[in-house]
Amino acid sequence: MSVRVRFAPSPTGALHIGGVRTALYNYLFARKNKGTFILRIEDTDQNRLVPGAEDYIIEALKWTGLIPDEGVGFGGDKGPYRQSDRKDLYKKYAEQLVEHGHAYYAFDTPEALDAQRQAEANFTYNHQTRDSLINSLTLPPNAVQAKLLAGEPHVIRLKVEPGQEIHIRDLIRGDVVFQSSELDDKVLLKADSMPTYHLANIVDDHLMGITHVIRGEEWLPSTAHHVLLYRGFGWTQTMPQFAHLPLILKPVGNGKLSKRDGAKFGIPVFPIAWQGDTPEDSFTGFREAGFLPQAVINFMALMGWHPGSDDEIFSLDELVRQFSIEHISKSGARFDYEKAKWFNQRYIQAATDAELAGHIRPLAEARGYRTDAAFLTSVATLMKERVTFLSDFVEQGYFLFEPVSAYDDAMAQKKWNPALQPVFEALIEMLDQTPAFDAASLEAAVKQFMQERGLKPGDIFSLLRLSLAGTMQGPAVFDMAELLGKADTVLRLRTALEYFNRVAGTTAP
Ligand code: GLU
Repeated sequence: MSVRVRFAPSPTGALHIGGVRTALYNYLFARKNKGTFILRIEDTDQNRLVPGAEDYIIEALKWTGLIPDEGVGFGGDKGPYRQSDRKDLYKKYAEQLVEHGHAYYAFDTPEALDAQRQAEANFTYNHQTRDSLINSLTLPPNAVQAKLLAGEPHVIRLKVEPGQEIHIRDLIRGDVVFQSSELDDKVLLKADSMPTYHLANIVDDHLMGITHVIRGEEWLPSTAHHVLLYRGFGWTQTMPQFAHLPLILKPVGNGKLSKRDGAKFGIPVFPIAWQGDTPEDSFTGFREAGFLPQAVINFMALMGWHPGSDDEIFSLDELVRQFSIEHISKSGARFDYEKAKWFNQRYIQAATDAELAGHIRPLAEARGYRTDAAFLTSVATLMKERVTFLSDFVEQGYFLFEPVSAYDDAMAQKKWNPALQPVFEALIEMLDQTPAFDAASLEAAVKQFMQERGLKPGDIFSLLRLSLAGTMQGPAVFDMAELLGKADTVLRLRTALEYFNRVAGTTAP
């Protein structure tokens, strides 16, 4: 039987990095097994729906390159893949469970149940309490019929039989045992005839032929109910196998990573930015922070999965080749942002200059910079070894696009010496006269110039750097000069000369 897995997010807001990791592991498992990766949107809880969340999920998957084979927005013949578009089909399944004695109608009003909860703090609707509540287990059949015919509001609840051990063989955690006596009688179908997560999830996994359920650890407790549903429906033969992924933990301290940790630590915890109704509900993303999607994939892959070697750099294809559920760890994985940055540096360095130029273009455009391919490719060549984020190309490297706006004063004071004034002037003159303005010719010309005057290159190179970039962090000085061209280089040297004099307090009147 071919592998079919699904990523089944609820569109209740932006999908944080843990959700994307779930999508990634499903994707890898599907690809590894030549199976199918499905996107199902679980939107049965209409109260928690957030407009735009579904589009966000799809865009995040596209950005990371985790493209579903079937699903909302991706076609497929087992659809519709959005649960609200399937809402009419769930009721009959819930009723089928009632018919077979695995579920029952419950007529208790929300007010009555609230009153119960008030009276008894730990009240749950379960095998101990259901006998004293208003449902089809306690009412005579004709009374039940009468209520149903009269259209009295009701829900359908799972009838959990006490005293059973429910064993789940989790592919990551091994044998996990639940005691049915501790489970509540979950609502399956709500009063508005909408299914709850539990019913819709199981019916859809069955109808969509899902073979493996790979999801976050927080769903492990629900699995006990899910197994009872499979039994109730008589679908145990085709019940999927379960794999519950470890939590993603905060960068420091205890507990799982939350969406608030982004603001707290000043780091992205979402794949792409999310614009909520309030600033507190708006988040930046890895994309906006200047990450390459491949770096984010690599980072996420190793947050919970280990390859069994010391290798750390994995392309998506390589991950597909090496991925196995057995190598997913049980214990939580720490969210290490420094590591994410390290991956990004590595991926930027490994990218071709043409690729990087493509990434730099929109950033340059947004700042009104020049955007021709040849120029951006050179910017990539010069800066790629120095940057951590894509945005650094235009932020750190702004001086390749526009005049220097700030000089490193301390460095200028250290390197400048008024005696250099005539030398610097002659140097500018010489460069202005140099016919060939490529890096190699410039370097040869400047070295010769220095030799003729008995100066050490070190005396002037730093000043050239400061002149062109304002900082010592810039790329190799002659590469910069070549890229900027003669006119701009000469202009910058003249401007810098005035600045050097000023900063040294020796400006001539
Ligand atoms: N809709 C659930 C969620 O939001 C899906 C859990 C599952 O994969 O079964 O994560």
